[in-house]
Amino acid sequence: MKSEKIATTHRSPKARSAPRSFWHLMYQVPVVAGASHAFFMLLFFMLGAPLLGWVNLGSVALFGLSYLCLRLKRNILAVGLILSEIVVHAALAVRFIGWDSGFHYYLILVAPIVFVSRSRSGPKLVIVSLMLTCYLAMDWFMKTHGPLYALQEQTLSALRYVNVTVTFLVLSFLSGQYYRLVTHAERQLRALATTDPLTHLLNRRSWLEVAEYEVVQRQRHQEPLAVVLADIDHFKSINDQHGHQAGDRLLQAVSEVLRNTVRQQDSVARWGGEEFMILMPQATLDTARTVAERLREKVSALNVPIEDHAPLSVSMTFGVALHRASEAIEAPVRRADAALYQGKAKGRNRVAIEDAPT
Ligand code: GH3
Ligand code: MG
Ligand code: MG
Repeated sequence: MKSEKIATTHRSPKARSAPRSFWHLMYQVPVVAGASHAFFMLLFFMLGAPLLGWVNLGSVALFGLSYLCLRLKRNILAVGLILSEIVVHAALAVRFIGWDSGFHYYLILVAPIVFVSRSRSGPKLVIVSLMLTCYLAMDWFMKTHGPLYALQEQTLSALRYVNVTVTFLVLSFLSGQYYRLVTHAERQLRALATTDPLTHLLNRRSWLEVAEYEVVQRQRHQEPLAVVLADIDHFKSINDQHGHQAGDRLLQAVSEVLRNTVRQQDSVARWGGEEFMILMPQATLDTARTVAERLREKVSALNVPIEDHAPLSVSMTFGVALHRASEAIEAPVRRADAALYQGKAKGRNRVAIEDAPT
């Protein structure tokens, strides 16, 4: 909970790099398949089976072509080329050197790739059924027909082991890629659900989750817990004079200052339009006031460059409150809001502290 909070507060979702989509995963298929076929090509030329070597050279060329098609966004053509290569290659190899060579295993690899794709389930089922039919047809045919070339038993066994190993490796590689794809999507979704898209600060809901957790911690360890509500002064007039985009730019700059000035254990959220909420575990009213004062000074010193105008500057008003034993987090939030209101009434650009308990 705590570590997740720090991650969402201090890291921008944009900074992460990972595969973006199924098609990113698909780019890897012709690369991996092309490399394995290049390996087989060399193996067959070395084993003195040049015909199969040439077949593999054709496969390498086909995978190269399908990679090019993917890059040019001719995705359907690329998938068609890849599937044809797998079927024709398996059929030729099985027919020439026999079922025991194990080249039919590659047909099985199609199923996970096809089912990861976003296409409709109809085409997926057609493709996988086609692969299954080819597989069974080859099996049936080869039961009654011997191979055209009889390889030595040892060579045949070696080929089968290589094919089984390559199938396992490719399957593991693809599964790993798929796992990365899913976890990346999961991270993106979590970031979307917990952070504000404009400022990348926590949103109100996730701030409340962190705050509720900290209330429990405070009760357990008898430590102070402060909340600070901050609001940009006369923000509406900035929007009115310089436009919404300049307003957004300013919100981002202010967020950056808040994020970089608070302590590591503090959590900053965008509470509403131009309002920000800060949770300060282990901070007394005095500590919170000092931090808020530092924030106020840093925000006042900001010069935000905007188009066709001198840099903008703003001020902020802060309301500070301390959590009291056995109350819900909403209570200090309300008192910080009331303190902020008083700070606004007294002329803005100041830090206002909650009324002392009576
Ligand atoms: P005060 O000093 O009393 O806080 O005055 P104010 O003008 O800051 O407060 P008011 O509540 O009147 O105006 C807040 C403005 O914030 C109004 C709204 O247009 C603007 N705002 C809210 N969300 C966004 C946003 O995401 N982007 C931009 N650019 N403006 C926003
Ligand atoms: Mg305001
Ligand atoms: Mg406001």
